[in-house]
Amino acid sequence: MTEFLDLSTDVLVIGGGPAGTWAALRARQSGADVVLVDKGYCGTSGATAPSGTGVWYVGPDPSVRAKAKASRESLGGHLADHAWMDRVLDQTYANMNLLAEEGRYPFPVDPETGAQIRTGLQGPEYMRRMRTWIKRAGVHILDHSPALELLVDADGQVRGAAGYRRQKHHDYRVTAGAVVIASGGCAFLSRALGTNVDTGDGALMAAEVGAVFSGMEFSNSYAIVPANSTITKTAYYGYATFFHADGRVLEGAGSTKGRSVIAKTLLTEPVFAQLDRANSEVQRQMRLGQPNFFLQFDRRGIDPFTDRFEVDLLAEGTVRGTGGIEVVSESCATTVPGLFAAGDAATRERICGGFTGGGSHNSAWAMSSGSWAGIGAA
Ligand SMILES: Cc1cc2nc3c(=O)[nH]c(=O)nc-3n(C[C@H](O)[C@H](O)[C@H](O)COP(=O)(O)OP(=O)(O)OC[C@H]3O[C@@H](n4cnc5c(N)ncnc54)[C@H](O)[C@@H]3O)c2cc1C
Repeated sequence: MTEFLDLSTDVLVIGGGPAGTWAALRARQSGADVVLVDKGYCGTSGATAPSGTGVWYVGPDPSVRAKAKASRESLGGHLADHAWMDRVLDQTYANMNLLAEEGRYPFPVDPETGAQIRTGLQGPEYMRRMRTWIKRAGVHILDHSPALELLVDADGQVRGAAGYRRQKHHDYRVTAGAVVIASGGCAFLSRALGTNVDTGDGALMAAEVGAVFSGMEFSNSYAIVPANSTITKTAYYGYATFFHADGRVLEGAGSTKGRSVIAKTLLTEPVFAQLDRANSEVQRQMRLGQPNFFLQFDRRGIDPFTDRFEVDLLAEGTVRGTGGIEVVSESCATTVPGLFAAGDAATRERICGGFTGGGSHNSAWAMSSGSWAGIGAA
């Protein structure tokens, strides 16, 4: 007889990145039995696991919060929703503090104030801790087990998923009271760091059961990379000047507003960059913030602060764009009963409008929407 794994649980979480692990943790803490399936290995898989990630962690001071919300409003076409931004800021603040206190995440300490700096996370450390945390909480994890389709009952309610255990070479079925899709965005196999698993499976499965989407027109996000590399970190190019091959400055080019200038120029000629606007303290912080960004330069003998290097643009689709499965309640329920969505699989239009969620908003959304979806599903 062919081997087959058949499980039954209260909540099934599909995807084990930040959104999925927060969903699993919160569902478990709400008293539900939880199974989490990951296409890769939960804790090392997805866009956060290999990266350094800035987080939209803003203290409760109303004027500081107002400034944080205003920062992307016009870039996002004024499509973001203040109530959702407030919720995400509150939830992210709470989650990051919990991560420090209960998750014992080793945040760096400001030498002057002695306070922990909680505006960023090292992906490998963060996700390693999230895996340990959910395992300790009693979540049943199936690694290397992509979900392939949602199961729907006669009333149209999502009741689990079927998939395949890649290392055991057999199918599985998990029947569940509710399902959270947290399978990340879709980077269209562009090879951007960590996105090899982010092939939009959750979007496809949700579409197959009739889910409504939102903001998909904002899903063509491209990130800046050194030519022939896969390590994207567009925020760091805020310190860059861009050049033509002959050394002339490429006017209007930039990481935030001037990316289309780079794109247009790349159609006809190569573009070069130099991170020449980072002072020595910023340089030190950048190296601490994302060491693997510098690995690609160190290996090639390039000093990105003093040398010009060729750059390219890499598609990151809905990983940095903001489109995804529409959420229709505060608990991130979708338009399909029994189905919840979180992280990059869900729309981030609520907090980013039509502008990218990269740089801080996406990570905040992943942990906030994951928490709400987990509780909602439970
Ligand atoms: C290089 C880089 C740097 C970034 N830096 C920042 C930053 O500084 N700040 C910021 O806010 N955002 C940043 N982002 C975006 C951020 O990483 C994502 O928003 C975040 O990882 C989303 O979390 P997630 O859990 O939704 O998806 P992911 O972290 O991508 O996790 C998805 C998980 O789902 C699993 N999965 C996929 N398909 C299936 C399936 N069929 N069945 C089961 N499991 C499946 C995957 O294996 C993976 O474990 C960055 C992204 C990249 C690529």
